[in-house]
Amino acid sequence: MGKTIIISNRLPVQLQISNGDITAIPSVGGLATGMKSVHSGGDSLWIGWSGLTEEEIPKELEPKIDAALAEHGSSKVKLTEKEVDGFYYGFSNRTIWPLFHYFLEYSEFQLDYWNTYKEVNQKFADAILANTEDGDTIWVHDYQLMLVPQMVRKERPDVSIGFFLHIPFPSFEIFRTLPWREELLEGVLGSDLIGFHTYDYERHFLSSVRRLLGLEVSFNDITMGDHVIKVDSFPMGIDYKKFSDAAKIHYNKSKNEQSELQQRLNTHQETDPDAKFILSIDRLDYSKGIAKRLNAFEYFLNKYPQYKEKVRLIILAVPSRSNVPQYQLLKREIDELVGRINGEFSTVSWTPIWYFYRSMPFENLIDLYTSSDIAWLTPLRDGMNLVAKEYIATRTDQTGVLILSEMAGSANEMNESLLVNPNNFEQTADALDEAINMPVEEQKARNSVLQKRLARYNVEKWANDFMTSLKSQKEREAANV
Ligand code: UDP
Repeated sequence: MGKTIIISNRLPVQLQISNGDITAIPSVGGLATGMKSVHSGGDSLWIGWSGLTEEEIPKELEPKIDAALAEHGSSKVKLTEKEVDGFYYGFSNRTIWPLFHYFLEYSEFQLDYWNTYKEVNQKFADAILANTEDGDTIWVHDYQLMLVPQMVRKERPDVSIGFFLHIPFPSFEIFRTLPWREELLEGVLGSDLIGFHTYDYERHFLSSVRRLLGLEVSFNDITMGDHVIKVDSFPMGIDYKKFSDAAKIHYNKSKNEQSELQQRLNTHQETDPDAKFILSIDRLDYSKGIAKRLNAFEYFLNKYPQYKEKVRLIILAVPSRSNVPQYQLLKREIDELVGRINGEFSTVSWTPIWYFYRSMPFENLIDLYTSSDIAWLTPLRDGMNLVAKEYIATRTDQTGVLILSEMAGSANEMNESLLVNPNNFEQTADALDEAINMPVEEQKARNSVLQKRLARYNVEKWANDFMTSLKSQKEREAANV
């Protein structure tokens, strides 16, 4: 058994440089947590970009940085500012991201972005190849690195290569508009196993492979010469225990142990115990439908005026990709909408929307999840949406209502929530009304089913299922030769 090499755009550690000293702080994000069972001990290596461009790293600190990363089983790919611009902010975030989220009009098809994407993918592949030994297993992550599997396979057809896409794969009619569609598919097809969050994404991918490359697809196997590639869905879960344990600790805190945010939330709850908190948490991204949600909230307040002064919408928008113009425009649009709606409906004792534009520490996220009667998560398109799962995991007394967009990958596993089409304001307003009035018994009945499912299909299971399937696919292929 060889080692496992994990490759993603970003490493699971954050580098901090101050006065010549380097600290590498492990990230707490979903992927980093999920991969813990795969990325442990000395038999695995994580390759990725450190988040700092070559221009930002003083040459003399390079050995120290490499040593700090090595302590976390990580190794960095060096990227210049120009490469990050073309590969990450360019092709990844201005071409693939909008296209795969059905924002065709936002997709930029620029040859120089594509060329840089290819060059940088080759850099990642070279970094993998320099570290690959017989019997190794390689797991490539996400849309920034779609060409890597083929680049690695060309040199090392003997090793196992898995690829997982964390965003949606769009329908053929959308995907076909990409000028480099065949190359992108061929890049991914260097894998032995290709994983998606949902069966629909898998189906869309297979359909593009069949129609654009004319390859033979049988059930979920693709045959390419003597290479058989398996395609399957692996819905990513969360670290369920981390969230439910944090919620339990949260409920046991004495008043003076509570955060400032929690104390403020308490004050409002005590002033009006019947008023409901509605929570919305997303990265500030056009795919998340935040502006539409604000418009729907206005529609709701007009349709059901009895809830004025009785509901409060807490919006947490986490800054993201703020040097891409589309995101700057969206930020302005949301700022203005919040201002306008608050201006229209506020009274001396009530502000309908509380808007936070920042990232919150874990403790405050738990405060928000546990204090909110309703979580309202209505992306226009979302690969998965982990926030929906985290909200349910923190509701240890099983109260709380989740209103979730049908367009989120997680909707497939969360049928017991109130599923809505985010473009349907009538349905959304009615869902809010239903959520506000849902009997506690019904809330508990729905959440107990959801919790059982989420606890079982946690992120560790997701990673292990993928690795097991990759192993058996390679064995299947070997047996056929
Ligand atoms: N999150 C965070 N800080 C915040 C708000 C959210 O770390 O201030 C986390 C949240 O707990 C979740 C992730 O960000 O794990 C968002 O994941 P999701 O799948 O919902 O959306 P993505 O941002 O990956 O599109």
